[in-house]
Amino acid sequence: MNKCIRISKEKPVPEDRKTYADAVFSLVGGKDYKCFVQTFGCQQNEADSERIAGMAAEMGYSITDKPDEADFIVVNTCAVREHAEKKALSLIGQYKHCKNNKKELVIAVCGCMPSQEHRADEIKHKYPYVDFTFGTSDLYMLPELLYRRLSGAKRTFIIPEDKPPVVEDIPVVRESNYRAWVSIMYGCNNFCSYCIVPYVRGRERSRHPDAIEAEVRQLIAEGYKDITLLGQNVNSYGRGCDFDCDFADLLRRLASIEGDYKLHFMTSHPKDATKKLIDVMAENEHIARQFHLPLQSGSSEILRKMNRGYTAEKYIEILDYIKEKLPDATLSTDIIVAFPGETEEDFEKTLELLEYVKYDMVFSFIYSPRNGTPAAKMENVVPDDVKADRMRRLLDLQTRIADSLNAECLGKTYRVICQGQSKNNAGMLEGRTEGNKILLFASETARDGDYVNVKVTKTHAYALYGEEVK
Ligand code: SF4
Repeated sequence: MNKCIRISKEKPVPEDRKTYADAVFSLVGGKDYKCFVQTFGCQQNEADSERIAGMAAEMGYSITDKPDEADFIVVNTCAVREHAEKKALSLIGQYKHCKNNKKELVIAVCGCMPSQEHRADEIKHKYPYVDFTFGTSDLYMLPELLYRRLSGAKRTFIIPEDKPPVVEDIPVVRESNYRAWVSIMYGCNNFCSYCIVPYVRGRERSRHPDAIEAEVRQLIAEGYKDITLLGQNVNSYGRGCDFDCDFADLLRRLASIEGDYKLHFMTSHPKDATKKLIDVMAENEHIARQFHLPLQSGSSEILRKMNRGYTAEKYIEILDYIKEKLPDATLSTDIIVAFPGETEEDFEKTLELLEYVKYDMVFSFIYSPRNGTPAAKMENVVPDDVKADRMRRLLDLQTRIADSLNAECLGKTYRVICQGQSKNNAGMLEGRTEGNKILLFASETARDGDYVNVKVTKTHAYALYGEEVK
């Protein structure tokens, strides 16, 4: 397959149109055409889908949540696990009937999955009704690809470049009017041995701090209260760029904007988390008291095999500094259970570290090999029964820790952002504390996005319950 197709020379913007979006508008505008965007995967994908919806709206489509009535379907995929890819492929299979019912329907697949050459090839040959694919870094090309297809060009399958450009000013339609994602950088340079991301999202590229500040200022001016800065490793923001601003500098700059809001960020890599960053967090009330620092394993030997770039001792050092400077911060982490070669002793080191840190939340995953990564070829695979047993022990321990930490919240009052009706607790509203804990409460008056003061009256390992305090 052609590695990297750049198509603008083949089909330039028509002379009477300023942009490709404008050119698509000339074809579909005023026809009540609808666009459906299906999103799989991480917050970065959610943020990308909001840009896709923004471009679709600019091109004259209204956004629908019903694929059957759409004239343009975009499937934004995830490749982090094989299972996620299979789910997306199965869904793409189901859209065949939409194309059969509506011949002029355009179907596009984007995100991490078609950024892999073998997947783009598979879509090209097994899903002939898919019109084009593009990668995460080629988002800005959507109007061009769509215009080209609508004007009769052949199907196109784009494999992204290693270091694509950072493109600003892509329009956005946000799903929420109080919570927003802001990508501050793209790609990853770390090549953790189990992870596919660097192969599908390319090398690190940081947005200019001026552009990020302008976006955050506008969000705050529009009333957004909960703003999350996104990057695969936000702690290496600005590295290798022609501006002098690291992540701590960026946070300080953004936190100086006046308003009633909190800044969150994800994901932080322990090897690049600095004391300067923690100091900036401690100094600024606008930065949420929450730290998600993925550990993955408490064994330095397993961390070496994972190519994580830090030891358990180095991790504890930074965690101790967070606890010293931000004693009220909510702590969370990611753990991979049963990485190849993980012995009982390695696993126990993970449990010991969990006991030591006492995280409020742990997101744990049983290791599953990802094709195309070095770990997929590693030997000493942990047997399934051992994997399951370790996972159960880890969950038991974490439930006990979270239960006792949450019990300390009893009687305290938290200012939460109301996020609407709870899906699992009928009649209750769901709020999130600054530290991202779920706090369920009843209220006659609270609406989505409102700040509500809630006093905790009951606790559980995975949720708090309370009543509104006027
Ligand atoms: S830091 Fe590691 S786990 Fe995270 S995206 Fe990069 S390679 Fe993947």
